[in-house]
Amino acid sequence: MKKLLLALMIALNVSCGPPPPDQATASARPRRGIDFEQARRQMVEEQIEARGVTDSRVLEAMSRVPRHEYVPVRYRTFAYNDTPLRIEFEQTISQPYIVALMTELVQPEPDDRILEIGTGTGYQAAVAAELVSEVYSIEIIPELARSAAERLERLGVSNVVVRTGDGYLGWPEQSPFDGILVTAGAEHIPEPLVEQLRPGARMVIPVGDSSSVQMLRVVERLPGGEVEIRDIIPVRFVPLRRNRPRTP
Ligand code: SAH
Repeated sequence: MKKLLLALMIALNVSCGPPPPDQATASARPRRGIDFEQARRQMVEEQIEARGVTDSRVLEAMSRVPRHEYVPVRYRTFAYNDTPLRIEFEQTISQPYIVALMTELVQPEPDDRILEIGTGTGYQAAVAAELVSEVYSIEIIPELARSAAERLERLGVSNVVVRTGDGYLGWPEQSPFDGILVTAGAEHIPEPLVEQLRPGARMVIPVGDSSSVQMLRVVERLPGGEVEIRDIIPVRFVPLRRNRPRTP
């Protein structure tokens, strides 16, 4: 019971939501000589392995991808901290543990094609890209989609395709997918995304009221076509927005 409580407390702390105000306002200039590689190793050990992520490929990917290249320059010194960070347009880059957990839950295989909803900085896409053959990522804010695509190209990540659009609808032309990662909180499980899962594949998605806590869920499309849903932990993500049609 104690263990469960502790896990819950950690989980509530480990969301994608905005960082505490002291960090958001800190005028953090990157310290000279900061050893990002060592910070990354420590992040993997203390935040990710320690909380029970065991997939060695996921742990290796997390220790390879240079998270500090994805966060805004003013937050570089916080890049490997146990926290989400603000990015442009009031969005956030998720906490490292949540990125690792979601990646593990989708069970990536080398030949897989994965869909991500909510490109943001491109970090989660880059982590997945280390583990699968192709990542398709949809971002609703055009400026974020553009800067993530440029960043990924600059960092030599060549197996991620980014496009602007409403991820609720998925990417039917490229479906079916071997896994779907939704990195924004949805009010319900989007039916188009379930339909774009290959039988046997999983979607990892935070579901619930966007103004409070959501439940991280794994939605598995079973080979027979039925859908199985598992609750993992409570999390807090920025909302999955919809482009509502304009009324005339
Ligand atoms: N995965 C990102 C962080 C995601 S933050 C990273 O690693 O940096 C959530 C992102 O989802 C935001 O960038 C937000 O603009 C985007 N988003 C919100 N609603 C969306 C939708 N309907 N379709 C696609 N992207 C959406």
